[in-house]
Amino acid sequence: MSTTKYIFVTGGVSSSLGKGIIAASLAKLLQARGYRVTIQKLDPYINVDPGTLNPYEHGECYVTDDGAETDLDLGHYERFLNVPTSQANNVTTGRIYQSVIEKERRGEFLGKTVQVVPHITNEIKERIQILGNSGDYDIVITEIGGTVGDIESLPYIESVRQLKWELGEQNSLVVHLTLIPYLSAAGELKTKPTQHSVKTLMESGIQADILVCRTEHELSDDLRRKLALFCNVGKDAVIQSIDASTIYDVPNLMLEEGLDRVALRKMGLSIEGTPKLERWNEFLTRHKNPKATVEIGLIGKYVELQDSYKSILEAFIHAGAQNEVKVKVRSIHSEHIDENNVAETLKGLDGILVAPGFGERGIEGKIDAVRYAREHNLPFLGICLGMQMAVIEYSRNVLGLKDANSLEMDAETPYPVIDLMEEQKHITNMGGTMRLGAWKCDLMEDTIVREVYGEAAILERHRHRYEYNNEYKEQLEGAGMKTTGVNPETGLVEIVEIPSHPWFVGVQYHPEYKSTVANPHPLFVGFVKAAYEYSEKQDNLAHC
Ligand code: GLN
Repeated sequence: MSTTKYIFVTGGVSSSLGKGIIAASLAKLLQARGYRVTIQKLDPYINVDPGTLNPYEHGECYVTDDGAETDLDLGHYERFLNVPTSQANNVTTGRIYQSVIEKERRGEFLGKTVQVVPHITNEIKERIQILGNSGDYDIVITEIGGTVGDIESLPYIESVRQLKWELGEQNSLVVHLTLIPYLSAAGELKTKPTQHSVKTLMESGIQADILVCRTEHELSDDLRRKLALFCNVGKDAVIQSIDASTIYDVPNLMLEEGLDRVALRKMGLSIEGTPKLERWNEFLTRHKNPKATVEIGLIGKYVELQDSYKSILEAFIHAGAQNEVKVKVRSIHSEHIDENNVAETLKGLDGILVAPGFGERGIEGKIDAVRYAREHNLPFLGICLGMQMAVIEYSRNVLGLKDANSLEMDAETPYPVIDLMEEQKHITNMGGTMRLGAWKCDLMEDTIVREVYGEAAILERHRHRYEYNNEYKEQLEGAGMKTTGVNPETGLVEIVEIPSHPWFVGVQYHPEYKSTVANPHPLFVGFVKAAYEYSEKQDNLAHC
């Protein structure tokens, strides 16, 4: 029997309470006490993974080293813990059913009727224990997506009930995240919705061990006692989670409330000493005391929903702290940019990032923005589609290849400078078939990337179908757009730079996925530094 302990995080009353941040904060505290911790997310929807979901539906799709397309909460887990996640860290109902149905087709159930209980629940329990059984972790935190009472999360809740029983006393616990709404007309915080959600959980046979209560106002002693009494938990197991100005404050807030100590005590683990959070707190001090501000334009087409670019926004926070500057991000809808308004739209910015994306919508605006940055020496970082747009822009406006494009946007283009790889041409299924996960990239000497990474080879995560077309490499290089990073096995171009420009970098991969509090991503750090230098220069010019 494994000695791993399991913590389940459920949500009640409302969605969007921040289960991912609470799970990550608890994990951070346990990790800072020396425990080996990982976090897993179980999602109740039927998509096999979020890879086929529009960002408007579900925010950003996060990608792991091993090529899993996952929920964005895994990004928080990595940013907080600085430990990579994998395929095993995100499981959806679709994936569970797919696997059970495949087993049924192989005849593995020996003629039995296949049912939600026990077959689906067994599959869920197996998936929860994969991480624990690896021997790599002392504690596995499993976040159950959705809200208690939803029809679709029932099999997960039932699996937690069974597993709690099977694991036995002190080997698991349930943290229930709930909302304590404030009724301004009554001037009161209300506990009733929480009482009801704890009751709903009990109807499924689960007693919450710890309540984490999201609130806009401090919970009084009386209110904590009331919650404890009616929800059947100890008074020290009522944890207040008050709104914070940054998600990175939450581990310290949870520490003050004693969340880690209650959890450890309930699992029979040592609570001696205090968590080592020196590095974390250093980051927070820098983040909260910037010496200057830079403004970066984020050019994308999903800008209405902040979650669509979650990892990029967080990477700017890490890189800002590293440079001791505040990075103000101005979200700009690429569909609203054209050659006539581009100067006005980008006015006052110290750098632009052209975002990843799919499909034709908004790409001409991106190309206009790239051109402006290139011609005005404005620091530029293009990520994935952003890099592809930089190649298209250079081909059209410098090489003079009229109507150069990506095959994704124009199947008839006379100059497919962004092309489909041979092995992609025969793929018909959309799910999980892109170039995904970590790929090696060799960096050329005397380049921006070589300088910022300080390494000759890197591993970065990909998520795309289309590629730089090597047939145009000679022309592009001859005209000044250099290839500065190449995949050593395939020869695919992963990075382009324009050496005559102060800071112009396009990367085919997604650096944002690997930026963490402990390891701010070097490209973002370099880009923010370049933006800061640009802003200083502009200030000096203004004062001349
Ligand atoms: N749509 C582009 C491709 O598939 C870029 C993808 C991205 O930006 N993630 O190649």
